[in-house]
Order: sequence, then structure tokens, then C-alpha cells
Amino acid sequence: MTQYVGVGARETEVIADVDVCVAGGGPAGLGAALAAAREGARVCLLERYGFLGGNFTVASVGTICGLYVSEAGSWAYVTRGIAEEVAEALKGAGAANGPIPFKGTAVLLYVPWAAKRLFDHLVGAHERITLFLHALVSDVVVEGDRMQAVVVATKRGPQAVRAQAFVDATGDADLVVHGGGPWTMGDAGQRQFASMQFVLQHVDMNAAFGAGPDALNQAIAAYGDHLSRDGGALLPTFRPGEVIGAMTRVRGLDGGPLDVTDLAQATYGELEGRRLAEEAAAFVKEHIPGFTDAFLADTAPALGVRETRRAVGRHVLTGEEVAGLARFDDAIAAGAWPQEYHVSGRSTEYRSLPEGGYYQMPFRALQPQGFTNLFVAGRCISADHDALASTRVMAPSLALGQAAGTAAALVAGDQLTIADLQVSLKEQGAFLG
Ligand SMILES: Cc1cc2nc3c(=O)[nH]c(=O)nc-3n(C[C@H](O)[C@H](O)[C@H](O)COP(=O)(O)OP(=O)(O)OC[C@H]3O[C@@H](n4cnc5c(N)ncnc54)[C@H](O)[C@@H]3O)c2cc1C
Repeated sequence: MTQYVGVGARETEVIADVDVCVAGGGPAGLGAALAAAREGARVCLLERYGFLGGNFTVASVGTICGLYVSEAGSWAYVTRGIAEEVAEALKGAGAANGPIPFKGTAVLLYVPWAAKRLFDHLVGAHERITLFLHALVSDVVVEGDRMQAVVVATKRGPQAVRAQAFVDATGDADLVVHGGGPWTMGDAGQRQFASMQFVLQHVDMNAAFGAGPDALNQAIAAYGDHLSRDGGALLPTFRPGEVIGAMTRVRGLDGGPLDVTDLAQATYGELEGRRLAEEAAAFVKEHIPGFTDAFLADTAPALGVRETRRAVGRHVLTGEEVAGLARFDDAIAAGAWPQEYHVSGRSTEYRSLPEGGYYQMPFRALQPQGFTNLFVAGRCISADHDALASTRVMAPSLALGQAAGTAAALVAGDQLTIADLQVSLKEQGAFLG
């Protein structure tokens, strides 16, 4: 039987009082904080880890997906604005390479360490952004339909950040859930599995990549029945002898996807993820040319989580709308990544969009029901499982964040209309479709 203890009401110190508070420093939160600050708002960005980037850095995912759409035999940016800026900054620093064709679309390979430092500089350089790291939002204060403050768990106990408007970029819709708003989470089979990425060093790159793009899949087909996935990727970081392994599928004790909002499951996932990474690295060393002298340098800082709780908003973006290249009057971004599923069995399924096509994302999917000054962005937007299969990757997450942050800044200034939001996004270089 579940037991409970009372936790008494207490006054907490307000450590920042700003126009816009952004919770979560992943792609969505970065897009939101930068956009709100550039719109003139005073911003507080809260991140639970000691660095920014979310899955960009926490999960060492290794490629930026969703940046491109095919156009006249070449690749054009479909997510522009801050997503394009981040991609070009990484390329300019020699820390990214692409577009690289992949599954009928294209990706940008990047170095996670370089992304971590880029985000330090982008956020740190902005005088209107106050950044707090090691700042887990653990509760919220709501009056009527307005969020007033978030409560941050710190070593000094709970502290508060007050703001005129808020962006929930936690990936898990923490602010919506704590605020009592409606949310959803897919059942097993309708929720993506998590993965633990890993880094191999001392790889003989000529031998490894001379073996051809199918070497990994062929080796798994011949010898890899015991592995958690029947495919995956070995991604060069373009640093000498270094490769990121994307080869694991982390199942819960019941064989289904984890719910990492549960502490016991989150803990199990980290341990199991490291076990699977070790297993996959040993397989690569034994069976893929060029990896014989390689070693497992490390796993990602934490388990990579693809799907948990999502807000229920004024519009729920659906898989049919994504696949049908939907258009919306309140469009705030465009996306072209295939619907990518890490669900049942060991395989990963890609459902491509029509070549050269893109869908629009509506502002109403960023507006959780029940609040007038709270917006969601990234993988916790109001979308069903099949829409999220495309929108959740990092370039659209940056673009959704840019839209949510701009909207929050406009709300804080009492100036939000769809027309003004769209004008502002276009002035910032965003592509709305
Ligand atoms: C293993 C794996 C591989 C992937 N591969 C790719 C890929 O190759 N390319 C690609 O583009 N996408 C990839 N994705 C998808 C992509 O990385 C994510 O969907 C994307 O990062 C979502 O961005 P986000 O900002 O919404 O969430 P996240 O990246 O999850 O960021 C959320 C941030 O909020 C912080 N946070 C959470 N709760 C709180 C709280 N209560 N208080 C304060 N901070 C909080 C977290 O620490 C984190 O920094 C992959 C995902 C996984 C898991």
C-alpha cells in the first residue's frame, strides 16, 4: 500500500523575478530562452544538470535530425532561425559535418563536447538571460489560469523563480503536470524506448568506414541475435579514432518502455543502459573491422529518453497531419523528418514523408489547456505518438522552442497575437512554411 507523509507549506526565497522563465535547457529550452531574450524579455533559464543541451549533450545523440528538406536534388534548411544558427556555428567551429544523406533525408553529424561549449557561450553571452544550473523544477505556484512561479529544488532547499510567462521545455511536461493541467503518456507499444549511447575511441577509421555502411547490420544479422537492437549506427565524430555507438534499446523489467518519471524505473534504466552499451561495444570490437583495438571510453552522461509525458493543448497534432503535410493558419514552424519509431521488437522503423514535402506545426499545440501564460516546447508539445515520432528530433525542438519563447516574451509584454508572433518569428529568420 502506498504510504504518505505531509509536507508542510513554507515560504521560499525568490531568487529571480523575470519576464520569462524557461524550465529545461535542452534544444527546446535553448531555443525558447534565446528567442525570448532577443525579443527583449528578461529571462531565467533553469536546468537540472550542470550543463546545457538536453539530449544534444546528455544523451550524446551524435546527429542533428530534422534540419533539411530535399530541394532540386540538394538539401535546404527546413528548420531555420536558431536551429540553423546552431548548425552553422558547429560547422564553423569544425565540430559538425553535413548534410549527410540518411534514410531518404539527411543529418548533420556533430561533436557533443563542442555543442556543450557552444550553448555555454550562446546563453552566457546574453545579458538578459540568468542561467541557473543544478536547478530542478519540482513544483509550481498557480492562481486561476496564470502560473505565478516555479519552485526549484536546490541544496539550500526549495527556492522560487517568479515570472510573467513560462515555457515548459522539460521534455516530460513537468510544469503542466505540477500545475494540474491535462497531459498524456502513451502505453507500451505507443511509447518510444530509451537508448544509452556510448563512445568508442582508438578506432582505425580507415578500416572501420572502408568496410561499408552495411557492415554493422550484416554483422548483427549474422552474430547479433543477443543484442537489444537489430541495427543502429556507428557515427564518426570527426575526431581521430572516435565513434559514437547508437545500438541499444533499453527495456524495463516488464519488457516494455520505461517510465523515467518513476525513480525506480529511471535508476534501472541507467544501469541496464550501461550494461547494454558494454555488450554492444564488445560486439563491435569482435565483429567489425577497424574496432579490434578500440575501447569503450564512456557511455553518455545519462540515459537518452525519447518519449514520456506530453501536454494536452488547444490542438493535438496528429500523425495523419504530419504524414499529410498539414497546413495551419497559426503555423509557427515546419518539419520534414520521417516518422521514426523505436517501439516494438528490435527494429527501428522510418516512414518517410513525400519527397520534398514538409508539414507545419500550429501554435495551439504549444498552448496547454488551462493556462494563459504557459507554453510547451520540444518533445512535450501537444501531439499524439505518431506526430511526435517526427517532431521530437532536435532541429524541430529548437524551432518549437524559438516559437514558445517568442510567444512567452509577447505575453509578458501583453502583446501576443498570432499575427505578431508570426511576424516576429519571420524577422528572426525562422521558416514557418
Ligand atoms: C538515444 C536518443 C537518440 C536520439 N537521436 C537523435 C538524433 O540523432 N538526432 C536528433 O535530432 N534527435 C535525436 N533524438 C531525439 C532528440 O534528442 C530529443 O527528442 C530532443 O532532444 C528533444 O528536445 P527537448 O528539449 O524537448 O528535450 P530534452 O533534450 O530531453 O531536454 C530536456 C531538458 O530539460 C531538463 N529538465 C527536465 N526536467 C527538468 C526539471 N524539472 N527542471 C529543470 N530541468 C529539467 C533536462 O535535464 C534536459 O536538459 C534522440 C533521442 C534519444 C533519446
